[in-house]
Amino acid sequence: MPVTRAYVALGSNQGERLRLMQLALDFLSSHELSIVQVSPIYENRALGMAEAEDFLNAIAEVNTSLSPINLLDRCLLVESEFGRVRGKEWAPRTIDLDIITYGHEVIQHPRLCIPHPRLTERDFVVHPLNAIAPDLVICGQRVSDIAQSLPIDELTLTDYCLHF
Ligand code: ATP
Ligand code: CA
Ligand code: CA
Repeated sequence: MPVTRAYVALGSNQGERLRLMQLALDFLSSHELSIVQVSPIYENRALGMAEAEDFLNAIAEVNTSLSPINLLDRCLLVESEFGRVRGKEWAPRTIDLDIITYGHEVIQHPRLCIPHPRLTERDFVVHPLNAIAPDLVICGQRVSDIAQSLPIDELTLTDYCLHF
């Protein structure tokens, strides 16, 4: 099976955010997916979500032999394992995994768009990505160039880290 370099965004804004992100990362890795590196974790105000906790966001660089759809299903499985907590009713999702890029593939599928369509406008995706892959080219643009045009002021660099 060919191995492809992909980038997965992790976010959490509820519960034990750091622990959930670590559990998600641990669960994501398998014989079909190895973690190459993980960005620093940034804290990001949950804009437009008055009652919500701030987000923690990071990017994982992975090597995977999973197909794009199988990687998506793996991400959704991780979300369903760790992403919901039982309260009186189903509480909002606490972990979100988005595939940012998968090799140089461009995919427009009903269930999967790659590169992630909203990535270039999201400081919480672009800046952690820039920390680990500034030379990555997405849709003809270097990540470092995308980062330069996106203010970083709303993000706080934390000293939390994810182990792999
Ligand atoms: P956003 O995609 O704007 O960050 P979200 O992460 O809150 O929104 P979800 O509810 O987590 O959205 O996902 C909805 C669906 O998006 C998923 O079930 C999946 O089929 C689809 N999807 C399309 N492209 C991607 C991608 N690149 N990564 C993850 N999910 C994707
Ligand atoms: Ca998302
Ligand atoms: Ca998602």
